[in-house]
Amino acid sequence: MRRRSSRLLAALIPAAALSSAGFAGEAAEVPPGAVVVWRGDGIERCGMAGGKWDPLDGACWYPIDLLTPAGDLELGRWRGGRLETARVRVGSYPYEVQHIRLEDDSRVNLSAADLERVRRENALIGRLWSRRGPARFRLPLAAPLESLPGGGRFGARRFFNGAPRSPHSGADFAAKAGTPVLAAADGVVALAGDFFFSGRSLFLDHGDGLLTMYFHLSEVGVEQGDPVLAGQQIGRVGQSGRATGPHLHFAARWRGARVDPALLLEPAAIPEIR
Ligand SMILES: [Zn+2]
Repeated sequence: MRRRSSRLLAALIPAAALSSAGFAGEAAEVPPGAVVVWRGDGIERCGMAGGKWDPLDGACWYPIDLLTPAGDLELGRWRGGRLETARVRVGSYPYEVQHIRLEDDSRVNLSAADLERVRRENALIGRLWSRRGPARFRLPLAAPLESLPGGGRFGARRFFNGAPRSPHSGADFAAKAGTPVLAAADGVVALAGDFFFSGRSLFLDHGDGLLTMYFHLSEVGVEQGDPVLAGQQIGRVGQSGRATGPHLHFAARWRGARVDPALLLEPAAIPEIR
């Protein structure tokens, strides 16, 4: 049986990019889609919601999925064979609403054939989220464009031609068509293809359940199964799939959780349990 230490509550240090704040005796709040880090000496294992994994760089990293409902989450770490726990509160959904107008309504209100295609693609893509292997990355990740403009809209609730659609689970970076797209870390090409919504797309597996994604490319320069190195050119910016202009949609799933990729590029902004 698990043993629980008395350390149920921990304060969270406010992070630059997140308005989380620590309160003694109360769980601190993070937005859905955040990553939380818990550092310490001699961490043996990390755990959350029944899952367990090894520390990375000596610390426990807890990716919290964008669609996690508001409420408390218990985080665990094992030291000297003992479980210690901390609690964070996932706040209510804080992201903006975005209205997008597309000339081509067939990419919003799908035909039966397109719906079937999307179902097939989603099944193929969904199998990636359970991939696990030894970590081949460290934070921060490398920028996916040589010069990374401001960008984002991670989490935006989206309406296409007035119809509500899935929230935005990545960050958008405007760049000229043809701009080289670079691998964010060492890894392997888990999937490469041309998909209905994301267009020409690459999914890289960096181990430890971390996958990064590069969507709407004009050109894909690697194939499924290819090894890649951080900073290596893997494709070019485009506007394939459902896009209103050339940009890179860059996204990350970590152990299945859709997280804000900006945090992985700028880990100083990751809220920390102290
Ligand atoms: Zn996007």
